[in-house]
Amino acid sequence: MTNHISLAQGREYLAIPGPSVMPDAVLQAMHRPSPNIYEGELIEMMPALTADLKRVARTDHHVAIYIANGHGTWEAALSNVIAPGETVLAPASGRFTYGWAEMAEGIGATAQVINFGTSSGWDFDLIAEALRADKAQEIKAVLAVHVDTSSSIRNDIPALRALLDDLNHPALLMADCIASLGCDRFEMDAWGVDVMVTACQKGLMTPAGIGFVYFNEKAAAKRATMPRVSQYWDWIPRTQPELFYQYFNGTAPTHHLYGLRAALDLIHAEGIEHVWTRHERLATAIWAACETWADGGALHLNVADRTDRSHAVTALRLTDGQGTPLRRFTETQLGLTLGIGLGMEDWDGCFRLGHMGHVNGQMVMAMLGGMETAMAALNIPRGTGALEAAAAILAA
Ligand SMILES: *Cc1c(COP(=O)(O)O)cnc(C)c1O
Repeated sequence: MTNHISLAQGREYLAIPGPSVMPDAVLQAMHRPSPNIYEGELIEMMPALTADLKRVARTDHHVAIYIANGHGTWEAALSNVIAPGETVLAPASGRFTYGWAEMAEGIGATAQVINFGTSSGWDFDLIAEALRADKAQEIKAVLAVHVDTSSSIRNDIPALRALLDDLNHPALLMADCIASLGCDRFEMDAWGVDVMVTACQKGLMTPAGIGFVYFNEKAAAKRATMPRVSQYWDWIPRTQPELFYQYFNGTAPTHHLYGLRAALDLIHAEGIEHVWTRHERLATAIWAACETWADGGALHLNVADRTDRSHAVTALRLTDGQGTPLRRFTETQLGLTLGIGLGMEDWDGCFRLGHMGHVNGQMVMAMLGGMETAMAALNIPRGTGALEAAAAILAA
C-alpha cells in the first residue's frame, strides 16, 4: 500500500463481545473519591440498586453481588447448590458451557456434557434422553448457557424449562446470562429459571469486576441442604444489604457500584423492552449486511438459523484465514476493534462482532462500514449492497 496513512485517530470503537462500550454517564459516575464504606450514601443506595438489578432480570427473588468476573459467578452459584459427588448436566453449544462444566468438576461434581456443536441451538430430544436416563435423579442442575458468546448461539431457555417440567425432573435450571442480560430478552421468573449468573461488563455496561448470582426459593431450599458452603461464596449474607460489611464479605466494590447505578439508570430510562427491541433491530441490520456479503462466498455466519442467533454478538468466519487480517486492518487503520474467534477450530478465519449494551444505529453502521472498507482493502470477495441492506432495516 503506497501513500498509506492510518485513519485510526479519533474516538476508538471497541466492538468486541465484552467488555462492551462504557457510557460516559458510567465513567463520570466512577470519577470521584472513595466513600465511607461503613455508613452513609453508599449503604443507603443498596436497596434500590438490588431492586433495579432484579427488575433487569425480571425477578422478584434474590440477587447476590460478588467482586468477581463471570467465572467467579459460575463458581459462586455452583458452590451454593452443588455438593461434591453430585451431577450436573451441561448441554453445550460453545466454549462457555465447557468452562462452566469444568468449574463444576473443580468443586467435585460430575459434569455430564452433551456437545451440540457450535452452529445451532440445543437438540431437545437429546437433552430429554439424558434426563429420562437419569432414573435415580442424580442430575441436580442443568447448566444452561443462554447466549454462548463464542459461537453466538442463543438457546431456548423456556423450552428447557418446559422439558424439565414435562419429565417431572427436579434438577435446578441454572442459566448463564453473562452475555445476554440487558441485550436478549430474559425473564427469570416467567421462564422458571432457578439460578441465573451474570456479570457487569457486557449488557450492563460497567467495567469488568462485579458479578451477580440470582436465585429463587427452590434454589434457596437446595442451599439449605448443603453440607457446607465456602464462606466467601455463600450467598446468604449477600442478600441482606442492611448488613453492609458482611454483604460484600469485606470492602465493597465502591466505584463499580456507582458505575452500575448509572448503567441501571440508563436501562430503566430507556425501558428494558425497548433495550431488547433495540438490540434485535441492530442485530437484524448486522445480519442483513453479513448475509449479503456472504453471497460472495468468502464470509460465513456461524449460525445459519436466525432464531438461533443472539442479538448481542455475531460470530463470523472468512475463508483463507482472512479474519485476523480483517481485524488488524479495522483496528490499526480505522480505530475499530472487532472480537477474536473463541473456541473455534479456524483461529485466523473466525472473528466476532460485539453489539451489546451501549450501541446505537450509527455505531452499527460505522462497524459495518469499517468491515466493508477492510474487505475492499484486502480484496475479499463479497456480495454488493450490504450497507444498503443494513440501512434498509434501520430505516424501516
Ligand atoms: C463473558 C462470558 C463469560 C465469562 O465472563 P468473565 O467475566 O470473562 O469471566 C461466561 N459466560 C458467557 C456466556 C460469557 O459471555
